[in-house]
Amino acid sequence: MIFTTRFAPSPTGPLHLGHAFSALLASDQARLSGGRFLLRIEDIDRSRSRDRWEAQIYDDLAWLGISWEMPVMRQSDNMHAYHSALKGLWARGLLYACHCNRRDILAAASAPQEGAPLTGPDGVIYPGTCRDLPRDPASEMPQDTALRLNLRAAATVLSGPLSYVETGRPGPPQTVTAGIADLQQSAGDVVVARRDMGTSYHLSVVVDDAAQQITDVVRGKDLSEATVIHVLLQHLLGLPVPRYHHHRLIRDEAGRRLAKRDDARAIATYREAGATPQDIRRMVGL
Ligand code: GLU
Repeated sequence: MIFTTRFAPSPTGPLHLGHAFSALLASDQARLSGGRFLLRIEDIDRSRSRDRWEAQIYDDLAWLGISWEMPVMRQSDNMHAYHSALKGLWARGLLYACHCNRRDILAAASAPQEGAPLTGPDGVIYPGTCRDLPRDPASEMPQDTALRLNLRAAATVLSGPLSYVETGRPGPPQTVTAGIADLQQSAGDVVVARRDMGTSYHLSVVVDDAAQQITDVVRGKDLSEATVIHVLLQHLLGLPVPRYHHHRLIRDEAGRRLAKRDDARAIATYREAGATPQDIRRMVGL
């Protein structure tokens, strides 16, 4: 299969040096391997996504010298695909409705017998409060509540451990393997549909990487904790598992990972100050 990768920014703020690094690395890899580079706008969070940030993303990427195949995929156009993936999981008893709010979760996870609450890629690991509430197997999937992935139920349908190929480390590609028990420890029953969105980052990214026929996901190391969740969802949904290249993170002088609110390192700020695309490449070590 032809090497196909993507850059998948959320239009919730300006692109910064970390995004530039990720996009340049992915598009360089596609070019060097004679492959494809796609763009996906991850705008499921309608409360934070803005058209002006989406327009700025296209402008900054073009200025950096990056070109992408058309059409651009936009997650807000794919809600039906997420819904049908969720319905399939629900019908197989792999999801449950969760009525807890943040405060409930923190209180249950901090109960004296639980020790210090453990955290995973989505924050405090869910203690499973709603997992065993009675549920009619034939019931309709609820629309007005969060849905969580039931890892205990998932364990019964998997035939072996989860694994993926990591290409972002020095040396030859490495196989990373984890069992459901590891996932229970590191992430717990993650939310796959948020009440306010009807989907989640984890579910959407997996459905869309398959729809865009992505063979190689290039993204920051900060997302590597989420990858085993994605591999599990790929297995449950019968989707292919791409290779993953988790790259180093671009940090500020104090060693902190750059964030969207970090306007000082926004590409737009450097552009206004007269930087060239070559300057940006140098700054991120490319
Ligand atoms: N939308 C995510 C972000 O902006 C990236 C998702 C991914 O590459 O898997 O951080």
